[in-house]
Amino acid sequence: MNVILFGPPGAGKGTQSDYLVKNFGLFKLSTGDLLRNEIKKNNLLGNEIKSKIDKGLFVADDLIHDLIEKIISDKKYFNNIVFDGYPRNLNQAKKLEIIIKKFNQKISCVLNINIDQDTVIKRILGRQICSECGLTFNKYFNPSNNSNHKCENKYLETRTDDNEKTIRKRFDIYNKETLPIINYYKGLNLLHDINGRVEISTINKEISGIINSLEA
Ligand code: AMP
Repeated sequence: MNVILFGPPGAGKGTQSDYLVKNFGLFKLSTGDLLRNEIKKNNLLGNEIKSKIDKGLFVADDLIHDLIEKIISDKKYFNNIVFDGYPRNLNQAKKLEIIIKKFNQKISCVLNINIDQDTVIKRILGRQICSECGLTFNKYFNPSNNSNHKCENKYLETRTDDNEKTIRKRFDIYNKETLPIINYYKGLNLLHDINGRVEISTINKEISGIINSLEA
């Protein structure tokens, strides 16, 4: 199945997609991660991407579509993807529909993680990502330790766009550009609302229940 994880910046999409990868064997397609990989190449395109991300702005749709089509068209990932941070505007949602159909697949559900802005800002300011394994942690709410993380703590990094000014900008853009997608997926009968304010394990359970009911 292909699953879309939807929600504002810091809602826990990365954490929940890691859960879906581990427990349901899905492949995680995070456009944010793909873009950060491009930045590491240290070329002109990478620099352009970095300047957008650091301002909290969206990267151009065409570039995003090229990145995701490469993955959706790959037979290794056939009908087995969790989309994290994509689509992010109505144009991307409509284009995704076209690409998915072109490669004979479908979207099984859209999980909409609901959470308020103040909670999310606290979460984002504590976010840490392991540069070795890619797992996401939070120094206040979900710290890395021996039982949840194999790598050394020296690999934990803070994203350059995780500062208060950029977060507020990302929120503004989310409200203007990304929120309208909810009605689009409601219309396609794919939307499931999830309470994102509760414990991570409670959200895991709710998501498992939805996925299992779709698989049955
Ligand atoms: P994320 O890791 O999903 O929080 O994304 C980090 C940043 O990458 C965003 O604030 C955007 O600047 C950019 N980005 C990620 N995904 C997309 C997308 N689907 N469309 C446009 N820009 C994106």
